[in-house]
Amino acid sequence: MARMRVAVVGAGVVGLSATAALLERGAQVVCYERADEPMAERSVGSSRIFRFAHREPELVARAADARVGFDRWAERAGRPMIVPSGCVISGADVPAWAAAMEAAGALFEMQPDPDGLRLPARLAPTEALLDPSGGVVDVDAVREYLTGLTERALRHEPVDAVDADGHVWTRSGPARFDAVLLAAGAGTPALAARVGIAVPDEIEHHARFTFPVDPAVPWRSWIDLPATGLGTYQHASGPGRWAVGGHLDPAVTRWEVGRDAATAASREAVLEYAREHLTVEPRIIETVYCTPIPGLGDGFRVQRADRVVAVHGENLFKFAPVLGATLAAACEAV
Ligand SMILES: Cc1cc2nc3c(=O)[nH]c(=O)nc-3n(C[C@H](O)[C@H](O)[C@H](O)COP(=O)(O)OP(=O)(O)OC[C@H]3O[C@@H](n4cnc5c(N)ncnc54)[C@H](O)[C@@H]3O)c2cc1C
Repeated sequence: MARMRVAVVGAGVVGLSATAALLERGAQVVCYERADEPMAERSVGSSRIFRFAHREPELVARAADARVGFDRWAERAGRPMIVPSGCVISGADVPAWAAAMEAAGALFEMQPDPDGLRLPARLAPTEALLDPSGGVVDVDAVREYLTGLTERALRHEPVDAVDADGHVWTRSGPARFDAVLLAAGAGTPALAARVGIAVPDEIEHHARFTFPVDPAVPWRSWIDLPATGLGTYQHASGPGRWAVGGHLDPAVTRWEVGRDAATAASREAVLEYAREHLTVEPRIIETVYCTPIPGLGDGFRVQRADRVVAVHGENLFKFAPVLGATLAAACEAV
């Protein structure tokens, strides 16, 4: 039987994971990327939070599957992909997260000893859950592993259009494939619309800031969603580095505000938060910027129109191995 020909649009972590899974299954793959480097848009940076903890039991289960996948990648790469430092969830919603963990049969600890939380916080959170399976994804390790596997499939060319019959148009002209996977992040809505797949096309500005922190402590990752005040996600981004992202007022981050103004306002808000609430040195040493879909939260959605499969979602990094396998299977099924 002839090998299946698949076009993957986008070489972010999702497109590369799917490309690697498709190559492993024997498909002929072209992975189109408009940027000079893979993983330069929403997958940029050197670290992400990994956690089993989610608000929905299905996502806890998907994260557990992803952990198995990351461990398999680590074994093949000969280097760890996850730093297993644990993840603390705190705030008013903790009971809902605990219920989801319970329903999925995941290990967790309620109200862990505040002195043993290993967070650079001036005041330990009162309502908290410890996810011992959480930690940090080493993005550099994942990038190196996936780019090594997919190098032969990568083509640095923007895709201008696709159709439901498997055609892909680039500046080199049209090419036809058995299946087309749209994993183009912020580029997906426009391409998906051409085949009648609706993907939210609103984007906003988001920036994450890194501060110097005591390098001697194996800090845990932290999702803090207080009833009032700034909600944040935080984690160690390498030794002595503490990354903080804030869930700011949408009026500050909406697209029309512009990248510079939104980043400056986010910077002020996160810096003020760090001064008041954290034991880090209140000095920003790195800024990571991206354009997420506002208000989407965790999880992903896969849609199909004839030969085209499209994926979208937020906080997708922690699901990468699962997404790769799921999307490869979806392409094979067209
Ligand atoms: C600061 C920050 C913190 C985050 N924290 C976490 C976290 O803690 N945990 C977690 O799990 N996730 C986190 N995320 C989210 C996670 O990183 C993203 O969901 C994930 O990286 C998205 O990957 P992707 O492949 O879908 O998108 P992208 O990485 O954006 O990849 C899409 C690719 O498609 C290319 N492209 C677009 N249009 C075209 C076209 N027409 N032709 C060719 N190529 C095209 C783009 O250039 C891009 O390289 C965070 C993201 C950021 C930025």
